[in-house]
Amino acid sequence: MPENIYSGSCLCNKIKYEISGVIKNIIYCHCSKCRKAQGSAFATNGNVNKINFKFIIGEDALTAYESSPGQTKYFCKHCGSPIISKNNKHPI
Ligand SMILES: [Zn+2]
Ligand SMILES: [Zn+2]
Repeated sequence: MPENIYSGSCLCNKIKYEISGVIKNIIYCHCSKCRKAQGSAFATNGNVNKINFKFIIGEDALTAYESSPGQTKYFCKHCGSPIISKNNKHPI
């Protein structure tokens, strides 16, 4: 069976990434943190295994904000696009 490959980039294209495998637990989250982080009524979130997420270019263009203890959001320092977040409680 062919593997799914998803590719994405930030708004300014300085960061490009690829996700292989399955994206799990995809939800629309309406919590106040997600609304503020996205500047929108909700965020679309899903989980991927760390080994399945690869930066093609621009990992050095990431900057980070710890939105709650152990939960860090990474976004492009040039255009502000949210890219990933990491949770120390679920370091997969
Ligand atoms: Zn960017
Ligand atoms: Zn949320």
